Amino acid sequence: MPGGVSSNFRLGMAPTPLMIESGEGPYLYDVDGNRLIDYYLGMGPMILGHRPKPVINAATAQLERGILFAGQTKIETRAAELVCQKVPCAERMRFNTSGSEAIQGALRLARAATGRQTVLKFEGHYHGWFDNVLWSVAPSPEAAGDAETPQLVAGSKGQLANGADGLAVLGWNDLEAVKARLAKGDIAAVIMEPSMCNAGAIFPGDGYLHGVREACTEAGTILIFDEVITGFRVAPGGAQERFGVTPDLATFGKAIANGFPVAAIAGRADLMQLCTEGVLHGGTYNSQPVAMAATAATLEALTPDLFAGIEVQGTALMQGLRELFAAESVTATVTGFPQIFHVGFGLDAPARDYRDLARMDKTGYRAFCAAMLNHGVRLLERGAWFLSSTHGPDVIEQTLDAARASIRKLKQDGTL
Ligand code: PMP
Repeated sequence: MPGGVSSNFRLGMAPTPLMIESGEGPYLYDVDGNRLIDYYLGMGPMILGHRPKPVINAATAQLERGILFAGQTKIETRAAELVCQKVPCAERMRFNTSGSEAIQGALRLARAATGRQTVLKFEGHYHGWFDNVLWSVAPSPEAAGDAETPQLVAGSKGQLANGADGLAVLGWNDLEAVKARLAKGDIAAVIMEPSMCNAGAIFPGDGYLHGVREACTEAGTILIFDEVITGFRVAPGGAQERFGVTPDLATFGKAIANGFPVAAIAGRADLMQLCTEGVLHGGTYNSQPVAMAATAATLEALTPDLFAGIEVQGTALMQGLRELFAAESVTATVTGFPQIFHVGFGLDAPARDYRDLARMDKTGYRAFCAAMLNHGVRLLERGAWFLSSTHGPDVIEQTLDAARASIRKLKQDGTL
């Protein structure tokens, strides 16, 4: 395996990718027998922690009935009902197996509905690894040029150069810029992470989501929220519930099935119905029954109380980190939702857009992650922290102790 891994997003792990034996609740056990408090959580999906009984039991029982039928199952209907009950925009929905695929489906629906080609995305927002969207995800500010009129920057070698033909890019959180671009009348869809989570955690500015919603309606443009991270994580109905703004379409993945490969497109009935009127949406493994059993069990477990619990622990951890960084004179921001937040070393004020985030001290943070690993805590090197309902007060306290010890060691070494 090139790099020893099956996804480039596992390449950056310091000091090497880990070999994992098993997981339980908030913990991972590696093959050397180390127990690690896990804030990777499979890069977001494991909202119920590792090996949650209801999900394991439901998937195991379904597995006994067979593996794949390419036919409808009751458990698929149940999972779909739960998505539609929880998500404000979900009048209809379809399943996929990865967020990247679901996004392609949503974009195709938007183009078919509007008869337009161009999609507007935002700098620093990630919508999967395919050629037509992997642009301006983490561009160097030099390559991206002026912040007011950013250039589209490819995210990979080997990408189709004309993959950007149907794409426009702007800085996020600038409502006037969106309005001006939509006024040209050629934008099929606006796609965004409704609250920025990938490059760093940035909330939408006051009135921004409402303003974009109105501007899209006025311009006949489809508004797509990419809720692959925020969906079923920041509230039962995702960021659209939390911020009270309903998009036309939304995409989901990650927490929808607590680690099983499930994604979804959901939205307005008239748009989703286009799947039966000439818009092709496919996938051999879509709604695989074992994964559907896991989806239904996960969504049933995601009660308001469960979110309230994560909110309390996440808030305590965020506050504890802020106090620790202040006490140890580490310049850092702690921003985002208690269920998924971000630590930005080297930032003295919360970032407002991707350009601010580009100034983070990435080297210092990677050293912090490596030190935390030696103290039994596994962190994402890019700064995101995912919490599960199993991260209780003891785990939070141990994490803060590990962070204190790690920072003191790095200061002693002169790394920080
Ligand atoms: N959109 C967002 C916001 C994401 O965070 C991700 C994955 N990190 C994706 C899309 C792509 O999902 P997947 O990796 O399941 O293809």
